[in-house]
Amino acid sequence: MKTMEADVVVIGGGPSGLSATAQAAENGMDVVLLEKANVVGGAANMGMGPLGIGTKQQSDMMVDIDVERAFKKFVEYTHWRTDARLVKKYFENSGETIKWLEETVGVEFAGAYKYFPKSDATWHIVAVNGGIGRNGGAIMNKHLAEYAEENGAKILFETPAKKILKDDEGKVCGVLAVDKDGEEVQVNCKAVIVATGGAGDNPEMIKERTGYIFHGNMFNFAIPGLKGDGIRMAMEAGAATTPMNVEMMYILPNSDFGPDCIPSVFMQPNLMVNQLGKRFINEEEMQNTTFCGNAISFQKGAVGYSIIDSRIAKQYMKKGVDVVNFVHHPEDVADFQEAVEASIANDNPDVVMADTIEELAQKLGIDPEALEDQVDEYNEMCESRDTLFYKDPKFMKPIEKAPFYAAKFRPGAYGTLGGIKIDEDAKVLDDNWDPVPGLFACGTDTCTIYGDSYMFLLPGNTMGYCVNTGRFAGDSAADYVNDLED
Ligand SMILES: Cc1cc2nc3c(=O)[nH]c(=O)nc-3n(C[C@H](O)[C@H](O)[C@H](O)COP(=O)(O)OP(=O)(O)OC[C@H]3O[C@@H](n4cnc5c(N)ncnc54)[C@H](O)[C@@H]3O)c2cc1C
Repeated sequence: MKTMEADVVVIGGGPSGLSATAQAAENGMDVVLLEKANVVGGAANMGMGPLGIGTKQQSDMMVDIDVERAFKKFVEYTHWRTDARLVKKYFENSGETIKWLEETVGVEFAGAYKYFPKSDATWHIVAVNGGIGRNGGAIMNKHLAEYAEENGAKILFETPAKKILKDDEGKVCGVLAVDKDGEEVQVNCKAVIVATGGAGDNPEMIKERTGYIFHGNMFNFAIPGLKGDGIRMAMEAGAATTPMNVEMMYILPNSDFGPDCIPSVFMQPNLMVNQLGKRFINEEEMQNTTFCGNAISFQKGAVGYSIIDSRIAKQYMKKGVDVVNFVHHPEDVADFQEAVEASIANDNPDVVMADTIEELAQKLGIDPEALEDQVDEYNEMCESRDTLFYKDPKFMKPIEKAPFYAAKFRPGAYGTLGGIKIDEDAKVLDDNWDPVPGLFACGTDTCTIYGDSYMFLLPGNTMGYCVNTGRFAGDSAADYVNDLED
């Protein structure tokens, strides 16, 4: 067995672990980061950017949001079923963290954006080739890793942590890991920070802790390696656990990574029905992926069908979609019909096309009469108003002209949320709410601030939480080690 020495060991190199590593190293700690994968970044390599409040980008873009307004909105949304002190500290530090990322770590931001019209412009999208693009999170993670290394941190890749070690007095004193050759590595240290990103790739834990069934009623991103290791290790080391949830969204499981025009068109606020052929949501809310995911997961079979006709499709192909977001963002969807036809020819079960509503219903497994009734009612409301869910009349477009198109949306999740109980300084607490000496945690392993539903109204929220709690953990671990040495 190899042994190493450090002040602080960080387990997991996503945005929370990288920020914790960078912060602790900046504070003079000798830090070893253990990463299971052969790259840093975790789930955030697929993301676009973190939340910030009170930033230069927001004042440059005349965005009206401050900590007080964001905090009040947040606690109202969560009905105060949250750690309000942690939320306040996170929001209060989020502006300075964007500045730190930009000026100290070297991350360039394209600006501060809304995710959808009803949200606030808190999403600080990392610049990709100087503008908005996907996967800017990977660029941020690369900068964080480089900055941590410049400050002396060591990153050990393909070295999963297995166990947190404690001494006779109950203080954390090291981590047991296994390197890529299968050899055991023991890193002796004074403090450990857990940042393993939750259990998105652990269907058993998801079922046990949230009730969702992977590829039954939950089609979550299963980022390889996110097995809940940190939650298990922290609990074995004395941590209290918290309720766990998923970061809810909705998804076309077989099309989300196909041509962008397919999800972009079907996520427009047209007609959405359930397996009974009935509307169940004001389709304007389809832009809020958590709200729509919640509503879909509440339906029979956990499925929602988005339906358009060829007049709507043609209008979008000619003039662009009604509502643009930065994830499925092409305004130009001219290739929609071609893409749908190719998808159907390739047996994609997510998309369906038919010449009549009856045929569409049959292909979707909905009672044809029920769907015809719903379409008739909807079309009538398009001429007056939506007296069922009060949708804005500008989005009320009748479903009349063949061919008709439908897409089958399912509940999805970016990952899991929560598992390890921490306080606002990212100290891990035991069942008595006393700190476990030398143990800290951050990121999604600890994130229970949203109550029952992820808060997309202030976008960039999880990555923002991860980077900020990572820095809190880095600071707290450094303070703890310094206090031990005094
Ligand atoms: C497609 C997609 C897009 C997203 N976009 C955004 C966005 O734009 N804005 C936003 O706010 N959020 C976004 N998110 C969510 C955000 O990326 C995550 O919340 C965030 O990455 C979580 O960070 P983390 O550090 O807690 O965990 P992760 O990023 O998941 O990192 C955990 C790391 O721990 C490592 N690890 C696991 N077990 C061990 C072990 N035993 N030993 C050592 N290492 C281990 C993993 O390999 C991984 O590298 C997105 C998520 C997805 C999937």
